[in-house]
Amino acid sequence: MRTPGYTGRVARRASLAAEDRLTGLVTVLDFVRTHGSTTRPRLVQATGLSRAVVTQRVAELLDYGLLVEGELGPSTGGRAPRLLRFRADAGHLLVADLGATSVDVALADLSGQILAHVQEPCDISAGPEAVLDRVEELFVRSLVSGETPPGSLWGIGIGVPGPVEFESGLPVAPPIMPGWDRYAVRERFARYHVPVWVDNDVNVMALGERRAGIARGHDNVVFIKIGTGIGAGIIVNGTLHRGAQGCAGDVGHMQVTDDPAVVCRCGNVGCLEALAGGAALGRDAETAARNGRSRFLAELLEVKGSLTAADVARGATHGDPTCVELLTNAGRLVGHMLASVVNFFNPSLVVIGGGVAGAGDQLLATIRETVYRRSLPLATRELVVKRSVLGDRAGVVGAAAIVTDELFRPSHLTQWLGVGTPNGGHVVAAPH
Ligand SMILES: [Zn+2]
Repeated sequence: MRTPGYTGRVARRASLAAEDRLTGLVTVLDFVRTHGSTTRPRLVQATGLSRAVVTQRVAELLDYGLLVEGELGPSTGGRAPRLLRFRADAGHLLVADLGATSVDVALADLSGQILAHVQEPCDISAGPEAVLDRVEELFVRSLVSGETPPGSLWGIGIGVPGPVEFESGLPVAPPIMPGWDRYAVRERFARYHVPVWVDNDVNVMALGERRAGIARGHDNVVFIKIGTGIGAGIIVNGTLHRGAQGCAGDVGHMQVTDDPAVVCRCGNVGCLEALAGGAALGRDAETAARNGRSRFLAELLEVKGSLTAADVARGATHGDPTCVELLTNAGRLVGHMLASVVNFFNPSLVVIGGGVAGAGDQLLATIRETVYRRSLPLATRELVVKRSVLGDRAGVVGAAAIVTDELFRPSHLTQWLGVGTPNGGHVVAAPH
C-alpha cells in the first residue's frame, strides 16, 4: 500500500543514487588523474569505496574512454591486477596567458602537460579584437607544432592581466586593458564549441606553480608577480582564493606613499606598483640616465631609446650603484607589503615571479631580507621565499590546470560525461 510521499521518496532515493554514482566516478577519476597509473585494489584502499563500487565506476570510465587498462601491476598475493591509466590524450586544451606586453600560447593534454608553447611580444592595450585574433592564429600554430595533437579540443583557458569575474569570464574594469571592460571573451571563442575559462593572469601563474612548480606540496601560498605591474595570487588550503568578486590579491594598488606626484595608472595616488613595478623601474631608470646619475643607464638609453626593468637588473649585475639603489628601493617596498600579507595570512611559501623578478638576484634578496625583518617571528619561522621555477611557463601551465580542474569538477562532469566529451556534438556550450 502506497503511503503519501512515496513518489517523492523514490525520486529522492534515485537522486541520491545518481549523486553517489557521480561522486564515485569523480573520486576514482581524480585519483587516477592525479596519481598516474594505479590498480583497482589500490583504488579501493585509497578512496574508501567498496570493491564492487570501484569495479563498476572503473568499468564506466573505461567505457567513456577516460581510463585505459594496461599491463599487469604488482601482485599483493593472488592474481596480479591490471594497471589503470588516465587517458590524457583523449582530448587537448588550448591555453593563452596574456601579459601587458607579451602573450604565451600553448597546447596541452588532459593531464595539463604542455605539448607546444610559443611566446611573442603583444600589447594588451591594442584591444580584445586584435589581441584575440593573434591568440587564435597562435592556437593554430600550436596545434601544428605539437608533436601529435591528441584527440579533439576539450577546453580553452585564458589568463588576462586584470581583474576577472570568474563565473562569467568577464574582465572587470581592468586598468591597463582599454576596450576589455566586460568584453565577452567566452563568446569570442564560441565557434570552438568547448567550455572557455578566463582568469586573472596572476591567479593562473599561482596555480601553475602549485600544480607543477615550486609550490607543489604547499597548501598556503602567496605568489607575487612583478612584471609591468604587481599582483598576487593566493592559495588557501590548496585552493585558489579569488575573493567575492574575483579581485583578491590586487596588492599592486595598495597605497605606500601619500606623495601626490606618484600617480598610478589606476588613477589613484601612491600605489605600490607606481613605485616598484616594472614600468616604474623603467621610468626611473630613464630619469637617472637623463640627469646624469648613471653612466651605464645613459649609454644604454642612447643606444636603445628607452629603458626597462631588465636594463636596471643588468646594470645592478654590472655593479652600477644607481641600478642597485633602484632595485633595493623597489625590493624594500614590495617586501614591506609582503610582510603585511605574511602577518595577515601566514603562508608557508612566497613565490616571486614575473618578468622583473626573473631579471636578477638583487630584487629577490632585498624582498626576502625585508619580509624576514618585518614579519612576525612565528609567521616566518617556517616561511620560505623563493623564485618561480616555471618562469614564462607558469601562466600556460596554470591556465591548463584551471581547465582540467573545471572540466572534471562534478558539476561540469555531469554536463558532458553522458555524451563522452565536452564538445560532444556541440552539446556543451561555455558553462554559466
Ligand atoms: Zn594603482
